[in-house]
Amino acid sequence: MNKFKTYKIIITGQVQGVGFRPHVYVLAHEYHLNGTVSNNENGVIIYITGLKESIYSFYSTLINNPPKVSKIYKHSLKEISFIIFNDFQIIPSQKNNKLNLQLTPDFAICETCKKEIYDSNNRRYNYPFTTCVNCGPRWAITKTFPFERKQTSIDEFEMCETCKSEYLNPNDRRFHSQTNSCSTCGISISLCDFTGVTLKIPQKEIFKKIASFIEKGKIIALKNTSGYLLCCDATNAETVKKLREKKKRLSKPFAILYPSLKLLRRDIKINEQQKEALTSTEKPIVIISKANYKGDFTLQEIAPNLNQLGVMLPYSGILQLLANALEKPIVATSGNLHGSPIISENKVSVEVLREIANYFLHHNLEITNPQDDSVVKFSTKFGHEILFRRSRGYAPNYFGTIIKTNKKIMALGGHLKSTIAFLPNDYLYVSSYLGNLDHFDVYDRFTKTALKFATIFERKPDVLLIDKHPQYQSSQFGIELSKKWEVDVFEIQHHKAHFASVLGEHELFNQKDTVLGVIWDGTGLGEDSNIWGGEFFTYRANQINRLTSFEYFDWLAGDKMSKEPRLSLFSLANAEVQTIVKSKFSEKEWGVYKTLIKQNKLKTSSVGRLFDAVASLLNICDINTYEGEAAILLENRIINYDLETCKTYCTVLDNYTIPTKLLLNNLYQDFKNGVDKEKIIVNFLYTLASIIYQVAKKQKIKKIAFSGGVFQNSVLVDMLKEIGQNEYELFFNRNLAPNDENISYGQMMYYLKCMND
Ligand SMILES: [Zn+2]
Ligand SMILES: [Zn+2]
Repeated sequence: MNKFKTYKIIITGQVQGVGFRPHVYVLAHEYHLNGTVSNNENGVIIYITGLKESIYSFYSTLINNPPKVSKIYKHSLKEISFIIFNDFQIIPSQKNNKLNLQLTPDFAICETCKKEIYDSNNRRYNYPFTTCVNCGPRWAITKTFPFERKQTSIDEFEMCETCKSEYLNPNDRRFHSQTNSCSTCGISISLCDFTGVTLKIPQKEIFKKIASFIEKGKIIALKNTSGYLLCCDATNAETVKKLREKKKRLSKPFAILYPSLKLLRRDIKINEQQKEALTSTEKPIVIISKANYKGDFTLQEIAPNLNQLGVMLPYSGILQLLANALEKPIVATSGNLHGSPIISENKVSVEVLREIANYFLHHNLEITNPQDDSVVKFSTKFGHEILFRRSRGYAPNYFGTIIKTNKKIMALGGHLKSTIAFLPNDYLYVSSYLGNLDHFDVYDRFTKTALKFATIFERKPDVLLIDKHPQYQSSQFGIELSKKWEVDVFEIQHHKAHFASVLGEHELFNQKDTVLGVIWDGTGLGEDSNIWGGEFFTYRANQINRLTSFEYFDWLAGDKMSKEPRLSLFSLANAEVQTIVKSKFSEKEWGVYKTLIKQNKLKTSSVGRLFDAVASLLNICDINTYEGEAAILLENRIINYDLETCKTYCTVLDNYTIPTKLLLNNLYQDFKNGVDKEKIIVNFLYTLASIIYQVAKKQKIKKIAFSGGVFQNSVLVDMLKEIGQNEYELFFNRNLAPNDENISYGQMMYYLKCMND
């Protein structure tokens, strides 16, 4: 009897572009097994022949020790009819069906590749596009799938003989590395001035030249692997100011790129958690406290009026080489005009950024999916991780909930922090943060992303989901698209979508207990046509019901209300406080708003606006220069807090409403009596946290879910945990940002679990 058997192994998940096939190849040789491995539309397929025991050990080793940057979602092993193989081979991709696979995000440059570009004896010395199976751009250069060189923009460059031999050598760490290249065969860089004239400098001298320009106070537009960045010397206050003025970004903080962990640690204290994130394969911007800062740059210019700072480490060969040449922190901010999407094309960069940048570093690798840097923060007391922006390194995969449905669904999200969620197959994809749809360029990228998702996955959705707000560009686009594609479109209320996003992230839909949903943000159209934003819901048995909210106050002057915190104060102030408010307006404005408020019918329960009112009352911010500024400035006033010494400014009323005006006017009494501002803000947050537990207690609910932009406030999150985490189960967004970036995913979850169409 034949002792040898043949098995078919299927592995799905993030398994392409991560060195899976070469890994399998090497392992099969170790176990003396013959067969083949290939990529297809589902993942990795292995046919393997040998002794049953050997195959089983091979299989278990593979599943337990997969390649470093892979993520296995499902795997199976099945005996099939016997096949004779003479050896083990990697065979070309075989795509027979539509894509059903997780996409591969970009990976930050690995330590081994980093060492090579430092090493003057290495053939990749100074080569900015040094990558291997563990690192380099993936999604940024993807045209279509499976992930093979020929489906990416790097295919324009043919591997030289040496690179080819690495690619073919099973003992080489670049065996089957799809992004393999070197300075002979690969991508070239060029340095131009702002008129587009190329400077005649040898390739290997370019980064030194850029470093000297930066030292001299110049601004550089640098094409990175995921888009252009604007860079300048962070220690040169004059240049930073110039960059602010030219970019029309007057006070929004800039992120700082440190050349190394060592230099970063010399300047600022970071903890283990922050270090982990800064050095992860995603390498996001991490927001850290400025306390104990010992560096050379003027914090006031980099992050005006804030006690925190966004920092990151080089994540590409390009940034690493610049860091090596410069050895000092630089400002690295998205290459765009204020509010527009990040730029990725050489020609466009010069057209748009020539007024800002003195020099341009271009390269000839096409970026097919431009992305911003992702941003995370950890709360001080509990180290709770909050995603502020989910983009490079994370998107477009969404790991988590397994969803079983026959429908293909596309959800078009909100408006200010737009994203798109798509469920075309067994996987769910959530696009990177796309931005504020008021900007034409953002809208353009948004619509292209929707169409691209449909193209890449070769499927149109059967159902489109949009926000209830008829004026959101995403809603209007969804209606257009539904006509074009002849598919159904459904509206989902903004805050219910937020709630569903947390329920989905923690798989709470099928459990029996009632969940309290605390959904607080800036704005969202409510079911009664007012502007909601301070909502309490309950979830039970596939139903979300609104329980209560903050007491309504007047919503004035449309969009202006979100931009001018003094208007929220004006709307909430009682007669006594009004006397203070008056000084914040001109005589004429005062007259206009007084008339306006008498005729006004639009109401709001927005907690975001309540934060605004408090910031204005305390003279911290009357007019925002960027979205959410007032709330950020408030949080930044808090150095520390002690729950023992906190007091509340109001409690929940018997009819369950929260007396918004009473809260503000009680807070004012403290302000009038000269209580320290930090203390007042701490009390304010304590009031909010206490209100939540009062509602939970009245309702006898033990599970509480939080979502909405307000929960980006890390002090509030710490307080909630400190007060309630022993008695209650608390759920926050974890793989998604708490802000409107989670609306698209929430719409999808709401549709799947709470709607019967
Ligand atoms: Zn590498
Ligand atoms: Zn080469």
